[in-house]
Amino acid sequence: MRDRLRDRVTVVTGAGSGIGLATVRRFAAEGARVVCVDIDAEAGRRAAAEVDGDFVAADVADDTAVRELFDTVVERHGRVDVSFHNAGISPPEDDSILTTGLDAWERVLRVNTTSVYLCCKHVIPHMRRQGRGSIINTASFVALMGAATSQIAYTASKGGVLAMTRELGVQFAREGIRVNALCPGPVATPLLTELFAADPERAARRLVHVPMGRFGEPAEIAAAVAFLASDDSSFMTAAQFVVDGGITGAYVTPV
Ligand code: NAD
Repeated sequence: MRDRLRDRVTVVTGAGSGIGLATVRRFAAEGARVVCVDIDAEAGRRAAAEVDGDFVAADVADDTAVRELFDTVVERHGRVDVSFHNAGISPPEDDSILTTGLDAWERVLRVNTTSVYLCCKHVIPHMRRQGRGSIINTASFVALMGAATSQIAYTASKGGVLAMTRELGVQFAREGIRVNALCPGPVATPLLTELFAADPERAARRLVHVPMGRFGEPAEIAAAVAFLASDDSSFMTAAQFVVDGGITGAYVTPV
């Protein structure tokens, strides 16, 4: 593993599971000091222990908690070089617009979009003081294309992340702060694997649209995050970085 993040102070939200956990491992393997953040204290603590990192429990949708999170990171570690805003939810009650209630809509928007607003709002002042920083916000390929298997709030929430990221990338481009959006395709995290194991038809309906014919692995997404976090992507900001097995480029997929 390369040493691209040697001694960088990195923050990963949603560190306890899936893409977040794979990124914690990847950042640590590339030499970073990792601060794991999760609302699930047990999972977050476990992730931190695995890489000899730090853990801060926080609900990233809570303004005060997020402000205190970044103050704590800077107090304990002196700086914050990389912030990966990855925590998100995709609850079953978020479905077609015809059946999705206002409560589910507001909850998904709050956890997926407001959280990114809050994390950016509270980390950017620290990065401005340092004159450098790399922020990666997790959007999704569904922010770029429509699905007949709708999750309307989730899709809208990720569109918001994409637009917000672009604007922040442009606004802070001359202050050494890069802000990029990650757009993963469907990834075989525990949630997705369980859902599709119980309902193979549901998996097949989606897999037919993936040129590579499989879902991504969390480690494959983490490799992209490490690139965006490191100086290897030094000329990239305000970008949408798509890692999707070819989905967004496809019309007819191979048989
Ligand atoms: P996951 O459910 O495996 O992990 C999410 C983590 O976030 C959990 O540890 C959870 O406790 C934490 N979390 C949830 N709400 C939180 C809150 N309010 N505050 C702090 N932590 C909170 O999810 P995943 O599949 O690894 O997805 C990670 C991100 O990637 C999400 O933003 C998701 O929308 C996005 N994404 C996932 C896929 C996919 O197919 N898995 C595809 C595209 C984008």
